[in-house]
Amino acid sequence: MSSNVYLTPYGGVNRIGGNTFLIEDCSSKFFLDFGLDFGKYRLYYDFPLNMPKTTKELLATGILPNIVSHEGRPFFEYCDLEKSDSSGKRWAIIEKQPKENFSVIISHAHLDHIGNSIFLPSSVPIYLSTFSKISFLTNFLTHIFIGKSGSLFDKLAISYYSKERIKNLERPGFDAFRNKYTIFRNNVQFKVYDTLVEPYAVDHSIPGAFGFIIRASNHTIAYTGDFRVHGSMKDFSSEFIGKLSGERLDYLLCEGTNLGLNPIRSEEEVVNSTESVLKKFFEHGGEHALVILSQTHIDRISEMYGIARRLGLNLYVSEAIFLLLYYILTSELKERLRSPLPPIVKDPKIDRIVQEVWPNSNEVSSLGVIVKERSKLIKLAEKLSLNFAFENDFSTVPTKSLILLNNLSSILGKRFMKNSLLVVSTTEHEDEEDLYDLNRFVNQAMLLGVPLLRIHSSGHIGVIELIEVIKRVRPKNLIPIHTLYPNFFKSYFERILDVKVILPTEGYPIKL
Ligand SMILES: [Zn+2]
Repeated sequence: MSSNVYLTPYGGVNRIGGNTFLIEDCSSKFFLDFGLDFGKYRLYYDFPLNMPKTTKELLATGILPNIVSHEGRPFFEYCDLEKSDSSGKRWAIIEKQPKENFSVIISHAHLDHIGNSIFLPSSVPIYLSTFSKISFLTNFLTHIFIGKSGSLFDKLAISYYSKERIKNLERPGFDAFRNKYTIFRNNVQFKVYDTLVEPYAVDHSIPGAFGFIIRASNHTIAYTGDFRVHGSMKDFSSEFIGKLSGERLDYLLCEGTNLGLNPIRSEEEVVNSTESVLKKFFEHGGEHALVILSQTHIDRISEMYGIARRLGLNLYVSEAIFLLLYYILTSELKERLRSPLPPIVKDPKIDRIVQEVWPNSNEVSSLGVIVKERSKLIKLAEKLSLNFAFENDFSTVPTKSLILLNNLSSILGKRFMKNSLLVVSTTEHEDEEDLYDLNRFVNQAMLLGVPLLRIHSSGHIGVIELIEVIKRVRPKNLIPIHTLYPNFFKSYFERILDVKVILPTEGYPIKL
């Protein structure tokens, strides 16, 4: 059947992350994800000394792809900064109206799926889930309120004058940001120009993650985004897979992060084994267990809260975790919570969920935030009747505490209790640079004499489940994405199934 549908990958093929897929369906033009490729970024840049200053640099390095239509026609320009005073403190954003209308549909808020969207003109509609919007924009609010804001990304996210107007961290106003965000909801189809898009929630290592079915002219296309079937929201993934298998899809863009050799354990196994180790640790005189995890891994934060309740521990969280939890618990999302979150905002609804999920567990006796000295968050913590302790001196945190931190920053200058344990909790694939970071952290912990433990449950589908999903869905054409091993799809699935595997190449349009 002839059609006028084209798919051009601009990231996320033959590699993990940086997903950016342009779909042109007759007159509709839209992207599936608009992610930052960390692998490419780290070839040129490193935080904090070596940071990009202009969009032009990112184009020259290929970190921002040079995007054109399938006929080779440029149709928009990325936004850039113009210095508006000599001190360099103020900035103005140069943006040009796109020559042709297009939209962006975001599967989830991991930066390798959404990060580059900050460079888009403000008139481009960005469709995403409520959680994705809150999580993505909280990154920038975290920089404004607790970190150092001032990177190219921070400056393009929000204009100088809008940033100056954000004074109240309790009610930051997500609408002050430059880009235009439109919320979609699970199972509620929406139209992007003439194309119908159906979003389906999936289980991943961040809430608000979605896969899509796209009803293009003459073709049904599905995109998995990142997904798995071994986390606490696995029912969502099952529903999506069920829907796909009832379709006879023309094209399936499917992730394959875990091909190769990767350890797979379910979230449940990880929680159970972590709980039994922590139980032993605290029974034998342990004072603090410090868990390092991503602040967006909300399900695992919830699980850690459950462990604290069951083992009778106190719970302290870092500023970045606190801020994201605060924005979730004061937004419409609190009505949709499935797993209980640390009650930094008191709400009888959360108490009810806790009683359902962890009956007979105890409320933590001391709930607090780990802050920097003179942090803007102290006032808010006090207002919410939370305790606080300073980040360089953990001895101010009561004993028998679980402390949740969100990064592997240097621990050499910090004061630990004598009997502390560090737990590194991961979900994502690690590249060489991540392993360097991890190694430095291990070296520091070993030098300080703090024992280490690692817990890992992948945010991505395991290989056996992936094979089962493809067998069940049986698309006519399969396009491997977000994987280091696209060839496996060809050599395996073409042999065992009547399916054609199309190996995508960055920048080359595929006529569907
Ligand atoms: Zn992801």
